[in-house]
Amino acid sequence: MAIAKTAIAPMKAAQIPKPGADFEIVEREIPNPTAGQVRIKVQACGVCHSDVLTKEGAWPGIQYPRVPGHEVAGFIDELGAGVTTWKKGQRVGVGWHGGQDNTCISCRRGDFRNCRNLKIPGISYDGGYQQYMVAPVEALVAIPESLSDVEAAPLLCAGITTFNALRHSGALPSDLVAVQGIGGLGHLGIQFANKFGYKVAAIGRGPENAALAKKLGASVYIDSKATNAAAELQKLGGAQVIMATAPSSKAMSELIDGLAPNGKFIVIGATFEPIEVAPVQLIVGSKSIQGWAAGTPTDSEDTLQFAELTGVRPMIETYPLEKAAEGYERMLSGKAQFRVVLTM
Ligand SMILES: [Zn+2]
Ligand SMILES: [Zn+2]
Repeated sequence: MAIAKTAIAPMKAAQIPKPGADFEIVEREIPNPTAGQVRIKVQACGVCHSDVLTKEGAWPGIQYPRVPGHEVAGFIDELGAGVTTWKKGQRVGVGWHGGQDNTCISCRRGDFRNCRNLKIPGISYDGGYQQYMVAPVEALVAIPESLSDVEAAPLLCAGITTFNALRHSGALPSDLVAVQGIGGLGHLGIQFANKFGYKVAAIGRGPENAALAKKLGASVYIDSKATNAAAELQKLGGAQVIMATAPSSKAMSELIDGLAPNGKFIVIGATFEPIEVAPVQLIVGSKSIQGWAAGTPTDSEDTLQFAELTGVRPMIETYPLEKAAEGYERMLSGKAQFRVVLTM
């Protein structure tokens, strides 16, 4: 005889119980959105190197257990009170920018990307390594029709970061732009740089990725193991922009001399080690070094629409949510080709 169930059906989530601990697959109640929030039925979530911050407790103030994930794609399944501009069933994503406070000095200046109290999914609240999540409306990104969930998810952190850093870099069509590192970030950076009309030099360690880099849109491939990459860039006239994506401060330090006069070195590969540069390296030729972090949800929408328009797509390996730990290890190994995406 069937027994009536009145409780809300539980859902599966991959959570980190405490800093440094392994992933746990747990059953949880499906969360309900409060005022100004929506509930998302998650379809895909990218695994980003920054998920290390949640896994290892390297970001201050994380409350555990915590569900990581800030490359979320799915559809709205429930609206919280007061939400009028988004619809049930609408396809949405959530990226690194998980909501701003609208009151700090940066927000008052309209610089939401640099909100002093920026919320980050998977850090400030539970992210996308689960079947349902809630997010504030200011974090939502509309996903265009022609992009699938697994394609859209990596564009919401890896994609927007490279797209936004490049489009604000000051490089003009035909300028030499170097992308260091051919991985989760770099393989997207090469594609965007090519579609922006730059002459793209891809820099990788070893010859393995040469053919792929060219296929993605690089016109030059530089093997930094076999050659001095900075000198190779100088032979080409120097790079107007070098976007450093591989998280190696040593590799970054070695590349700075590849800049052209007035060139800009953009750091997006996150490490805690110092970059070494002598003041004179920057003074001669008025060169600069700049960091760049993701962008707002409307920047993400620009990224997705540009990808839709130009055919830029992430290369992905998918893992089911139950194998989140395996997918995370694969990302950490650096062997993934190129972005690991969990599917629910
Ligand atoms: Zn990320
Ligand atoms: Zn703010």
